Amino acid sequence: MEKRLRLAPSPTGLFHIGTARTALFNWLYAKKTNGKFLIRIEDTDFLRSKSEYTKNILDGLKWLGLEWDEEPVQQSNRISIHKDYIKKLLESGAAYRCFTSEEEIIELREEQKKKGLPPKHDNRHRNLSEREIEEFISQGRNSVIRFKIDDKIEITWADQIRGEIKWQGKDLGGDLVLSRRSSGYEIGDPLYNLAVVVDDNSMNITHVVRGEDHISNTAKQILIYKALEFKLPIFSHTPLILNNEGKKLSKRDCVTSIDDFREMGYLPEALANYMSFLGWSPKTSENEILSLNEISKIFDLSDINKAGAKFNWEKLNWINAQYIKKMESSKLSEIIKKYWDNLGWKSPSSDWDLKLTTLLKDSMIILKDAIDQSKPFFSLPQIQEEGQELLKNKESKESLKHILSYLRQENIDKLDQYKAKEIINNISKSHSIKKGIVMKSLRVAFFGCLSGPDLIQSWELLSENKSDLLRIERCLISP
Ligand code: GLU
Repeated sequence: MEKRLRLAPSPTGLFHIGTARTALFNWLYAKKTNGKFLIRIEDTDFLRSKSEYTKNILDGLKWLGLEWDEEPVQQSNRISIHKDYIKKLLESGAAYRCFTSEEEIIELREEQKKKGLPPKHDNRHRNLSEREIEEFISQGRNSVIRFKIDDKIEITWADQIRGEIKWQGKDLGGDLVLSRRSSGYEIGDPLYNLAVVVDDNSMNITHVVRGEDHISNTAKQILIYKALEFKLPIFSHTPLILNNEGKKLSKRDCVTSIDDFREMGYLPEALANYMSFLGWSPKTSENEILSLNEISKIFDLSDINKAGAKFNWEKLNWINAQYIKKMESSKLSEIIKKYWDNLGWKSPSSDWDLKLTTLLKDSMIILKDAIDQSKPFFSLPQIQEEGQELLKNKESKESLKHILSYLRQENIDKLDQYKAKEIINNISKSHSIKKGIVMKSLRVAFFGCLSGPDLIQSWELLSENKSDLLRIERCLISP
């Protein structure tokens, strides 16, 4: 039978890393089994749901390469269907109208608190007669629909990740509210646990893969499945993503939305590759740089860990750097060029762009590194303390003086790498200055410090920019 999985995000915020990882696990299993990956937008919280968040989630999924197979389902279009099922539950006696007011619920909670008991509804209206119901309605009292949960029932399921899970009916908070308050005999807006069961059933979902924070919902939902005589899907509850302190990754950790990662300069392939390791690791492959298609072949839900998955920036950075290294320079150059354009940095030619990109590629971790790393090619960097120290050395200034006069004499228009090497060798030999000193001095002239990209290739680029002479000159002028 075809396996059908889904992501059911609530569009109440930007696409979160936790939702993205859930999407990824669903997508991977659907691909592995030649099944289908579907989307259902759970937008029935009208106050908090926004269409811009739906767009953000769908854009984020596409950006990560997690395309879905059928038109996304919008839960808000299905409210009347949900209500029909609530009616069915009312008719079969599995659900009932409950008139407990907000004040009465608060009162009950207070009492329970005093006794040190967890909040639980006392199911006071479970057995109202028709006449009692009529009376409440004629008094103008609103009602919710509650689903009966037997205290003595035990709910068990074979979780693909956690093995057998058992829940006791008495621990589920009393009879479950299926719909918001409404007046008269109306049925108010259906709530999550009812809607999710009805929709998963009508979308023929075979596997529900979602975060472990939904475990108690699963217990409630199983009871609804049974009451409606629906076929149960297979459940898997994934571990939470944790921060460095072992707490659930949250907004306080600064970067949590997929947009944040995109803006910082993480590549979608790298982020998706890394996210797959948040709770799962390949059993059969040592290689950690894997495409989604490669991962889908070796992925299995039963290999996902139970324990929380710590978010590891170092690993993400390492993976991202590998993807940048692997990326075609021309493609990378286009991305980097956009940063330069935004900053108003002008480059001499597209060939120059490509050469600088190739030069910086190996030391980049995130795309934005290209800004800091290419800056010294567009503006004169300050001479730092270590540079100033070196320039105090007589031989250092000597070597720069000789290079400058040579460049002026020869009037070299465009210096290539061979010429650059030749100049360094000749100056070193003819003035008996160690090659190392010549090179370090040039580096200080170009970058103001002793570190940076390959000197010879940098010189070639700076020469084309016509700023090598200027950079050497200023070292000779400064005291
Ligand atoms: N809308 C729910 C959420 O975003 C869906 C949970 C589920 O997958 O059933 O948490």
